Amino acid sequence: MLLTVTTTHRPATDLGYLLVKHPDRTHSFDVPTGTAHVLYPEATEDRCTVALLLDVDPQRLGGGRKQQASPDSFTLGQFVNDRPYAASSLLASALAKVFRSALRGESKDRPSLAATPIPLEIHVPVLRCKGDPVALFEPLGWTVTARVIPLDDVPEGHPLAGDSAYVDLTLTGTLRLADALNHLYVLLPVLDDAKHYWVAPDEIDKLLRSGEGWLASHPSKELIARRYLAHRRSYMLSALERLSPDLSADGDLSGESAPAAPRDPSLAEQRRDAVLAALAASGASRVLDLGCGGGALLAGLIKDMRYTEIVGTDVSSKALDLAHKRLHLDNVPSRQAGRVTLWQSALTYRDDRLKGFDAAVLMEVIEHLDLSRLPALEASVFGHARPGTVVVTTPNAEYNVLYEGLSGMRHSDHRFEWGRSSFAAWTDRICTTYGYNAALSFVGNMDKSVGGSTQMAIFTLPRKDES
Ligand code: SAH
Repeated sequence: MLLTVTTTHRPATDLGYLLVKHPDRTHSFDVPTGTAHVLYPEATEDRCTVALLLDVDPQRLGGGRKQQASPDSFTLGQFVNDRPYAASSLLASALAKVFRSALRGESKDRPSLAATPIPLEIHVPVLRCKGDPVALFEPLGWTVTARVIPLDDVPEGHPLAGDSAYVDLTLTGTLRLADALNHLYVLLPVLDDAKHYWVAPDEIDKLLRSGEGWLASHPSKELIARRYLAHRRSYMLSALERLSPDLSADGDLSGESAPAAPRDPSLAEQRRDAVLAALAASGASRVLDLGCGGGALLAGLIKDMRYTEIVGTDVSSKALDLAHKRLHLDNVPSRQAGRVTLWQSALTYRDDRLKGFDAAVLMEVIEHLDLSRLPALEASVFGHARPGTVVVTTPNAEYNVLYEGLSGMRHSDHRFEWGRSSFAAWTDRICTTYGYNAALSFVGNMDKSVGGSTQMAIFTLPRKDES
């Protein structure tokens, strides 16, 4: 099983720093299914190629844990099959083990290069493929060449027969190496659609971690989640629910087995609608979306002409770029575009530009701050900017027991998640310190014993206090 990654970003040998594998040497690692070798067939300043070669030990495969989706029914089939040759989830697991820090986008020696999109070419000479690799890789910015490899006659019932094709796949594009590796880590097993290991609940976390920044907006995210999680429907639903809150409301939900009945609005959609309703009820016309992320709420606000001035802020320029694109700010009529502004701003610092607005929203934002930094946000929003209404939403940690397969928090970037009493205590403290009143409610499914999935607080200033 073989995979190569080539870059022409000079000096191309810096690829070795990103992967933490010196280009002059061959590196070998013991992995659960055999031995993984990393070597560089070419390494010059202009062009550098790294190869990941997985030497599968069929005995280890056939022996150990029972294969979950193996079609091999005859004894020899355990040993004579395509597993050693065709790229699949085995190669993806080896990739994750051997290039762990590169997958995370970390690089001690070349941190800025790790964060920079560079020209890449990825070649997988034999990939067992069920479905269309173009549809999976193209939306991520890759140019895809997939050549079907003709096979000699394969007897019916042999593992090499069936609805899969063998494809020689080449991907070219300018991407961060970490993104490229994460795309492969998730999509190789998705294309193979036969995981070699038992899918445990922590696979959901792995999928969300690797899918961060691209999976939520992928047009085939349902198919990806379903196949990656070995068709466990409850896992898939849990994963889709937890996908980045700023994007998960969107995307094409049509997949291999899309439900025929109209689907229920997702939690993200219900939350956005609840926040929009609270803003409308407040009578606000100049509003702030603080920590606006990819602009899910802004997209709703811009459609409603009662809002004459809409400002989205975020500390992340990547999020603001995403919002800019999503709202088509470059090509909406200027009357519309003129109502919306995006500012980069950190909520833990006072920002005079945020003063004098009617209302502000902190939708799924507070839990992204370290608890020790939360008082700084409180002072800058409730003390300094001081809008007449502040709408805050945050997960209800008590509800997490109802998400099958969820072991920790809902999102890898969450620093804390509060239960009902912690959230109530926090709102009380804001009211006492900054003179607001608060009304608490839930959004999403309600459970008798643990409450709703999302907690919402609507803070209002007594009229005389408004400026
Ligand atoms: N409100 C959006 C995004 C929620 S994700 C939605 O519900 O769809 C949380 C967002 O908060 C991220 O975009 C993150 O960049 C932003 N954020 C985290 N810490 C921040 C800080 N200190 N100042 C401003 N924004 C912050």
